[in-house]
This record gives sequence, C-alpha cells and structure tokens, in this order.
Amino acid sequence: MDLIQLPGISAPQQLTSPIYLGSHFTWGEATKDGTRIPEDCTIDGDDLSAKTIVANIILIAKELDIIRHAFGDSPITITSWYRDPTSNREVGGVRNSQHKRGWAADIQIDDYEPRQVAAKLSETWPGGLGDSVYFTHLDLRQRLGLAAARWDYGNA
Ligand SMILES: [Zn+2]
Repeated sequence: MDLIQLPGISAPQQLTSPIYLGSHFTWGEATKDGTRIPEDCTIDGDDLSAKTIVANIILIAKELDIIRHAFGDSPITITSWYRDPTSNREVGGVRNSQHKRGWAADIQIDDYEPRQVAAKLSETWPGGLGDSVYFTHLDLRQRLGLAAARWDYGNA
C-alpha cells in the first residue's frame, strides 16, 4: 500500500492524495513517489524542521495550482520538487538549494514551451525563477527576505 507518513500530518497519506483539499498536486509528486520524505536539516546554519518543510510544500502547491489555472488549467508535470539532503547531493543540487526547503519545484506545463512559461511568470513571480528549454524552476525564496531572482540554465 502506498501510504506515507508526513511530519506534522497525523493521518498517513496516499501518494495520490492531494496536498491540500482541492489541489491538483499530490504527495507522490512532492516526494518523488514517497522516496523523499521531509527530514530535519540545516541550511546555511539555519535549522529547518521536517514539519516546516511539509508546510513549505503546501505553500508552493497553492502557488502551483494558481499557475495551473493561469495557464488555462493545463496539466503540470513535476520534474523535481522536494529533495532531502542526500537526494540533493546526488542530483548535483547546490548545497543551499531551495528544493531542500520543500518550496521549490521544477515544472513543465502541457501545451507550453518552458521558455513561454518563464517569460509569462517572470513578470509577476516574487521568488526565484530559473528558465531552461526543458523546465521552469520556481521557488519561494522571498519568504526568507530574499529578492526575486531570475536566471537562465541555458540549453543544458
Ligand atoms: Zn529547481
């Protein structure tokens, strides 16, 4: 049975369970099919609890649902969301990656080129936005008091 236990949420969740009531995004998508369960970690000297990471996942899920609607309710594919510290190292993420906080997602939107997605979101997205030909990275770094950031991964 594909049930996972998430810190701060009392009932076990199915991988197909929406992250919050009515969301189009599932816990399976946020946790890479349950292989990346939020765990306590330290980032740049900041202690981050697993419960906070779960709350952060819910925060960006709400933003992703808003984006999904803004793009005509087109389905969104997640290519990367939460990364525990070990997974982040394995995929070559930067040490202080926003993915470790749970509030970063790399997305593809059906019927839109990633470049189009980035161009449209860049006007209003208050956090980090990375543009590539394969996906768009979004994060909520503004919640750390950081300025909005824009970058281009090039064609890699
Ligand atoms: Zn990313």
